[in-house]
Amino acid sequence: MSSFDRSCAARGVSGETGQSPLPRRLFVKSYGCQMNVYDAQRMTDLLAREGYAGTARVEEADLVILNTCHIREHAAEKVFSELGKLRALKAARASAGRETKIIVAGCVAQAEGAEIFRRQKAVDIVVGPQSYHRLPELLHRAGTSPEVLDTDFPAESKFDRLAAPSAHQIRKRGVSAFVTVQEGCDKFCTFCVVPYTRGAEASRPVEGIVAEVEMLAAAGVREVSLIGQNVNAYHGRTPEGATASLASLISRVAAVPSIARIRYTTSHPGDMDASLIQAHRDQARLMPFLHLPVQSGSDKILAAMNRGHTRAGYIALIAEIRGARPDIALSSDFIVGFPGENEEDFAATLDLVEKVGFANAFSFKYSPRAGTPAAELRNQIPESVKSERLARLQTLLDRQRRAFNTKMAGRTVDVLIEKPGRHAGQIAGKSPYLQAVQIEGSLDRIGEIVRAEIVSAGANSLFGRLLPDWAAREAPR
Ligand code: SAM
Ligand code: SF4
Repeated sequence: MSSFDRSCAARGVSGETGQSPLPRRLFVKSYGCQMNVYDAQRMTDLLAREGYAGTARVEEADLVILNTCHIREHAAEKVFSELGKLRALKAARASAGRETKIIVAGCVAQAEGAEIFRRQKAVDIVVGPQSYHRLPELLHRAGTSPEVLDTDFPAESKFDRLAAPSAHQIRKRGVSAFVTVQEGCDKFCTFCVVPYTRGAEASRPVEGIVAEVEMLAAAGVREVSLIGQNVNAYHGRTPEGATASLASLISRVAAVPSIARIRYTTSHPGDMDASLIQAHRDQARLMPFLHLPVQSGSDKILAAMNRGHTRAGYIALIAEIRGARPDIALSSDFIVGFPGENEEDFAATLDLVEKVGFANAFSFKYSPRAGTPAAELRNQIPESVKSERLARLQTLLDRQRRAFNTKMAGRTVDVLIEKPGRHAGQIAGKSPYLQAVQIEGSLDRIGEIVRAEIVSAGANSLFGRLLPDWAAREAPR
């Protein structure tokens, strides 16, 4: 059992003195991917042990953490603009005799390091994504010295040093939870900062993950999303000293009794092995949804991106996956305007989208990132061309998403109820295909998988009618 599992739950009591000081307030703002959502939760749990209670109001926070994303330029710039506002807040609180510490965590912290102190003097601590388990120690140092920096890739595993959330905290976060199983990336796509900010690929051992899922399940979690920058490259150690694939990890997680649904993200096409494809056929708890970024439909651009897969390879892979699970809903990431992309390359991307058919997708204009090979390329594409191509691609993807949703009308689906719905008397959840579903129903159904008939489909949600309980009990989950 790892110390993550053994460590005490968040308790708001000073670990050193055992006394209960007035709770200090913590405000965390997280940007970017699911990995950052998970990291923000872990930092909150760790600091709860140090006596910090969460607040949703930044004005009352004694400690503010910006958990940052560096993937595209505007993501980093947003952080600096937020820091400007926080400096004013810190000064206002100081004149009222209240101290505020500001921490920059996440990938901007890793990439910019001490430069952050230069650009914004109000920052007290800069901590990278691999060293946030040291936050208590860093806060202690920040009591006496300014500008505490930790962007190491330490040898010790942070997962062994993190704190478990309380059952109350888990329930507050909802019935669907993220669990990081893998971090970092060795692929070095030429546009991407992840291998530099998150480091080399590393997988958590199987037992620590299963113990974390059991703890979540005991507090009422019904769905886990196994996450990693390159999650299907997972190769964690088993207790016997063997190496487990993502497919075998999924079957271990599926054996945790009340976990009804499993998802995983984000995958690379090059790591979609046969066992994972089979899991989509054989493992009933693995949901029929796959986010598999392709980035471009042009072989020339895929090669310049160093993606390690071709257009034909991707299309063949999708055919194989659909052979195993015909109803699977597909999602992807696209980058338009990569250096050297001409109209023909872009047309190949549109064509790939037409051929594959996506239920959902994320699409971005290429954003040059300092330190990545693509940023040095001379044939950069003008912003106006990128914007125009993005609009065309998004029109097509939007049409496909709407068509996928519209096709659901009249079908019966299982819905995991997650929270109150948009309007009084409504409850909201997710279909197996990750669509938001709104249903008339009572809040005591939260955490249940109910059967619903889809009545209509809006732009972002499906609307369903609850079927009688006997149908839910007999439905396959
Ligand atoms: N590991 C995943 C994969 O293999 O595609 C992607 C992880 S990355 C955090 C998420 C997405 O951000 C990428 O799929 C890509 O579409 C987008 N992205 C990354 N770097 C980018 C850049 N420099 N400009 C625009 N989009 C970028
Ligand atoms: Fe970035 Fe994904 Fe490529 Fe890794 S595989 S370098 S995370 S885009």
